[in-house]
Amino acid sequence: MDLVKIRNLNLKELSEHILAVGYPKFRAKQIFAWQNQKLVQSFNEMTNLPKSLIEYLNKNFILQTLTVQKKLTSKDGNTIKFLYKLSDDNLIESVIMKYNYGYSVCVSTQVGCKMGCKFCSSGADRFVRNLEPAEILEQVIIAQKLVQQRVGHMVLMGIGEPLDNFDNVVKFISLITNEDGLNISGRNISISTSGLVDKIYKLAELDLNCTLSVSLHAPNNELRSKLMPVNNRWNLEKLMQACRFYFRKTGRRISFEYIMINNLNDTTKQSNELAKLIKGYPTHVNLIPINSGSPTDFKPSTAKDIKTFKQNLEELGVNVTVRRTLGADINAACGQLKKKEVRR
Ligand code: SF4
Repeated sequence: MDLVKIRNLNLKELSEHILAVGYPKFRAKQIFAWQNQKLVQSFNEMTNLPKSLIEYLNKNFILQTLTVQKKLTSKDGNTIKFLYKLSDDNLIESVIMKYNYGYSVCVSTQVGCKMGCKFCSSGADRFVRNLEPAEILEQVIIAQKLVQQRVGHMVLMGIGEPLDNFDNVVKFISLITNEDGLNISGRNISISTSGLVDKIYKLAELDLNCTLSVSLHAPNNELRSKLMPVNNRWNLEKLMQACRFYFRKTGRRISFEYIMINNLNDTTKQSNELAKLIKGYPTHVNLIPINSGSPTDFKPSTAKDIKTFKQNLEELGVNVTVRRTLGADINAACGQLKKKEVRR
């Protein structure tokens, strides 16, 4: 019999289970706290539980399903990248980054990805399967245990398209924001998407209080369709309509990610197009120089071009920042470490 991943259960489901096998409900709360707050790695460490319950848990559940296959720390010590092995031997990655406001974890949501974005190492991999809520949660728990400090921020921007694994991602958000769990505020969670319009509407209706982070990367349909095949299914007009709906429904400003690629999407004309595309409601643009480990021969825009692009956007009233490139020395971009390991 396959053991159940206990971290897939929310507190209500765990309570029902514990009651059904003859233990009082408060035991479920104790187990939930051990696994999510005290971050133990085995049921035997749950010292305030009766021995019989620990035996029951060991026979029926599994607590930790990820094993750290590789851990790389950047030279400045601010970025740690993990390569994890899942219980079925598949590999995923996550990254923990230190900012002046504290630690943030970037988690994967799928093994491989169906979206096929041309600039992405994960997009070049075939899709294998969705991650379960417990497998996403464990990436945060292991990272937090390692740095021995609270991780207060989280981005779903690792391997995979989070909204393509909708139900598991939503359950994971409910687990991680639970006040008896890691209790990370929804306001500090960014869910990225390459532009799955139908799922953006669905997410807006749930009002999880999370930031929606849309990977834009091009200001017109012609270029975006070349970089991101998803644009052939949902073009920019449909995507912008969905983003406006998300803002109206949740009151949360939309964050647009824009990878800067030399001589491809970094001209002044393109910054004008971008400003026009997103005008009229609260947004934020993150400019990201493309990582040099991209599977294509794309090169990052020059510092001068990035500065000009940013200045032009600012003059047009756009809220814009350039993202600090963290961990380039440890292949911190999504999918690069896994690829290296698989090749090896
Ligand atoms: S950028 Fe994100 S959505 Fe696109 S292929 Fe990579 S992992 Fe998938």
